[in-house]
Amino acid sequence: MAPVSSELGVVVLGLLGLLIGSFLNVVVYRLPKMLERQWAAECAGLGGQELPEQAAFNLMVPRSRCPHCGHAIAWYENIPVVSYLVLRGRCSACKAAIGWRYPMVELVSGALFVYCAQQWGIGVSALVWCAFSCVLLALALIDWDTTLLPDDLTLPLLWLGLVAAALQWTPVGLHTALWGAVAGYLSLWSIYWVFKLVTGKEGMGYGDFKLFAALGAWFGWQALIPIILLASVIGAIVGIAMKFSVGLREGGYIPFGPFLAGGGFVALVAGPASLRQWIGL
Ligand SMILES: [Zn+2]
Repeated sequence: MAPVSSELGVVVLGLLGLLIGSFLNVVVYRLPKMLERQWAAECAGLGGQELPEQAAFNLMVPRSRCPHCGHAIAWYENIPVVSYLVLRGRCSACKAAIGWRYPMVELVSGALFVYCAQQWGIGVSALVWCAFSCVLLALALIDWDTTLLPDDLTLPLLWLGLVAAALQWTPVGLHTALWGAVAGYLSLWSIYWVFKLVTGKEGMGYGDFKLFAALGAWFGWQALIPIILLASVIGAIVGIAMKFSVGLREGGYIPFGPFLAGGGFVALVAGPASLRQWIGL
């Protein structure tokens, strides 16, 4: 591929990353609410009750609105990063502040796409790593907000990692990826049960096992120890910092998923091989 077209490809993929980042904001905000509605409906169904008819609510419908005044957001107010800057971070109707996280997620997503395009060149490998980055970013944010790691994201991430390894879109090889998934799930599952039997508390959730299994599928079993060490160290530092600064949130529970995801992003950028070197494996 000629250098000019690959440069153009990187730019195009970066712009696509910004747009998908905008969509990820919607996913992070709506998916937990969609799941809550689904669970409420299922519980009511089991109890033989009928829930009142509700308006459609999914990733497409209804249109995004300002949470303060209900102003429907026009397409030109929804351009990644640009609209935030033009509107100076405020709703055009009521001037309420728009969270800075929205443009940040768009920027991070765009940057990850550019990184993947430069790392693997324009092709299927870059695209699957872009998909990996998107799902991992959404999971980290949803877990941080709600302490949920939805199966709708963790399981496809796991399957895609195994399929990508089988088709050699990722460099790990199917054998390494498969044992990575198994070891990822079983290691945290065992720690969970030992911790629960000894202390009577739950230190993690099943979502964490599935996310770690997915990371094993994408990076291979050898990368799991450095990833879990990174996640634990960063998690401990953030946990202690939060305890001393803002006070722990209600219930004193800090989700582990965002730190696992953070370990995944370090593995993506540093490469699993250098991670293993860091700890001398
Ligand atoms: Zn408003």
